[in-house]
Amino acid sequence: MHLVAIGGSDAGISAALRARELDPGVEVTVVVADRYPNFSICGIPYHVSGEVADWRSLAHRTVADLEATGMVLRLDTVARRIDVADHGLLVTGPGGAEERLAYDALVVGTGAVSVRPPVEGLVGAGALGAEDGVHMLHSMDDTFAVTRTLEERRPSSAVVVGAGYIGLEMAEALTTRGLAVTQLEQLPEVLPTVDPALGALVHEQLVAHGVDVRTSTTLEGVARADDGLEVRARGAGGDRVTLRTDMVLVVVGVRPDAELAAAAGATLGIRGALVVDRAMRTNLPDVFAAGDCVVTHHRLLGDTYLPLGTTAHKQGRVAGENAIGGSRRFAGSLGTQVVKVFDMVAARTGLKDAEAVSVGLHPRTVGFEGDDHKAYYPGSHRVRLRTTGDLATGRLLGVQLFGHRHAEVAKRVDIAAAAIFAELCVDEVSDLDLSYTPPLGSPWDVVQGGAQAWVRETAGAGA
Ligand SMILES: Cc1cc2nc3c(=O)[nH]c(=O)nc-3n(C[C@H](O)[C@H](O)[C@H](O)COP(=O)(O)OP(=O)(O)OC[C@H]3O[C@@H](n4cnc5c(N)ncnc54)[C@H](O)[C@@H]3O)c2cc1C
Repeated sequence: MHLVAIGGSDAGISAALRARELDPGVEVTVVVADRYPNFSICGIPYHVSGEVADWRSLAHRTVADLEATGMVLRLDTVARRIDVADHGLLVTGPGGAEERLAYDALVVGTGAVSVRPPVEGLVGAGALGAEDGVHMLHSMDDTFAVTRTLEERRPSSAVVVGAGYIGLEMAEALTTRGLAVTQLEQLPEVLPTVDPALGALVHEQLVAHGVDVRTSTTLEGVARADDGLEVRARGAGGDRVTLRTDMVLVVVGVRPDAELAAAAGATLGIRGALVVDRAMRTNLPDVFAAGDCVVTHHRLLGDTYLPLGTTAHKQGRVAGENAIGGSRRFAGSLGTQVVKVFDMVAARTGLKDAEAVSVGLHPRTVGFEGDDHKAYYPGSHRVRLRTTGDLATGRLLGVQLFGHRHAEVAKRVDIAAAAIFAELCVDEVSDLDLSYTPPLGSPWDVVQGGAQAWVRETAGAGA
């Protein structure tokens, strides 16, 4: 049995590790386009900021660790064509030589690529690039390009386009490096994955640390200027915005990198991602796929596109197990995510109102505020919550949180994620036997306080 995985990031490596763990007799080859297998690209902002000084530390596992599991790594090797009929993968190696790898099962983990907004200076013949100080950010090579710009050009200012979680992390990273950062976001508030009420608190945190935040502002073009770069944008009332800067970082999302499998006949779905079943099988015989290149099953929304590292790890593990004959199913995502913005943290799991309405539910969201631990013990922080439940069934649908980085926001959103996964009603959250000691919590955790507020405010409001 020869399993070939394409892609050396979360999905491809998770598949390879799982296959070797379950059956050390299985031959596993991982084909990786670059030299950086199993790197934690989620950690890139913390290398750019300087907090993680050595980029090598970002490796989840070293090449030696991976090879010790018995897998064969083919680095600097690009998969060019899948020949489904005769179970072959055409690759080009480091020297450019073509080779055919025979497989019994294939896992496609080609991931995603950065979205390049179709505006002047970013697309077309004269598009600007890293050598001009204009960057995208997804791979280790992108990271080296950013750090080269920082070290060689010594920029004093940067424009970050996009205020999703990566844009926020990078605004913080570049501020920490001493740059004056302007952040553009076309939507009315930053971090649109949470409700504007919490996004506004994230916004305040950026401003408090000197970031010049421009919401409702859409990028229109980037051009070289005498003394750096000129960024053109359109502001809220249609007014023109022109900014002079030394560096531009465009982080406006990703799209699935699905062309290789699509060319072999794989079916594409939402946002051009590969369609897979819950066993992570594509429609092609013995071809599985996982991670940012596939359509993701969401436990409440059904099929969606939700590129996240946590999901890529889980899907890769399922794909690796099934590729060698297993029968595991991907349980589904809840879109649980968390981001640190300077001293504060925002997190969400499950659905916001509009998402719930889109699948026929009857949501109501109720705000709440409480302490992370007993206020009489030094160092307590307020935590803001938004709890979303279904008026028709009482079921917990979503929780959003905002609080200090030492207020265990991430683990509190995980309580909610576990409750939604278990299909609890909002009222049942109060029944959870959570831990308590005054320096670390309260007899009712703030997540339970939020649930009780929801029950109080929606009493008699059933749909
Ligand atoms: C800056 C940043 C911060 C992030 N932070 C978080 C976070 O905090 N939490 C979180 O959950 N997620 C985070 N993510 C998202 C997360 O990193 C991705 O969801 C995850 O890496 C997806 O893994 P993947 O294996 O599907 O694809 P990718 O990471 O995109 O990897 C694709 C792999 O396939 C290889 N490849 C592609 N085409 C070929 C080919 N033809 N031949 C050979 N190899 C090929 C690539 O070289 C790469 O190794 C972050 C992403 C970025 C960029």
